[in-house]
Amino acid sequence: MEEQGKQKHAERMQRKKAVVDAGIEKAQIERGIVILITGNGKGKTTSGFGTLYRALGHGHRCGVVQFIKGTQSTGEVIFLQQRLGLDSVQYHAMATGFTWNTQNWDADKAAADEAWAHAERMLQDDSLNLVLLDELTYMLKYRFLETDAVIAAIKARPAHQTVVVTGRAAKPELHDVADTVSEIADRKHAFKAGVKAQAGIDF
Ligand code: ATP
Ligand code: MG
Repeated sequence: MEEQGKQKHAERMQRKKAVVDAGIEKAQIERGIVILITGNGKGKTTSGFGTLYRALGHGHRCGVVQFIKGTQSTGEVIFLQQRLGLDSVQYHAMATGFTWNTQNWDADKAAADEAWAHAERMLQDDSLNLVLLDELTYMLKYRFLETDAVIAAIKARPAHQTVVVTGRAAKPELHDVADTVSEIADRKHAFKAGVKAQAGIDF
């Protein structure tokens, strides 16, 4: 690059640094937040677990409830259970319950209630820094859980606790309670081009 270009770049970075520094100066509140990862694109659950592993790296205590149990174990859960041990993580997955394959309302409802009881307990547990509620959005969308009760429990959590909620089609109430909302757009997905779901990538 010629000297003039380098000089321009340096000035641009200087201006950017001033904006970033001002932003950092302004953000002084310390508290737990609600993060909602929604949308139709790939990356919601992996983002939730990425945050979980980030928290664990700092020695934080965490809880996870998964509101949909597929037939295959996912790599992130295998890693959690077999490689990490469960000392600093509490984990619960909906036992019999809701998958795209079951169409039994009563069984799904019972499984949802049981999973929610675990979530509710975690949301009251002062020792947990992070609670991941993976695929919670569907429980509200299909009315297995009452939206008001879920929102109230999230709001009443300990002040330092962060909650991550994932899943498509999040209700407006979840958007409202969240401090950070990321909507992952589906621009392309390899599956639609015929690529088979792969261990370590898709589950
Ligand atoms: P991931 O677990 O990979 O982060 P996700 O949580 O965003 O995905 P879900 O809606 O929970 O997505 O679906 C999980 C599975 O469906 C994964 O195997 C993922 O690769 C696949 N999937 C996610 N988004 C799409 C999509 N837009 N088209 C096809 N398959 C998808
Ligand atoms: Mg998911």
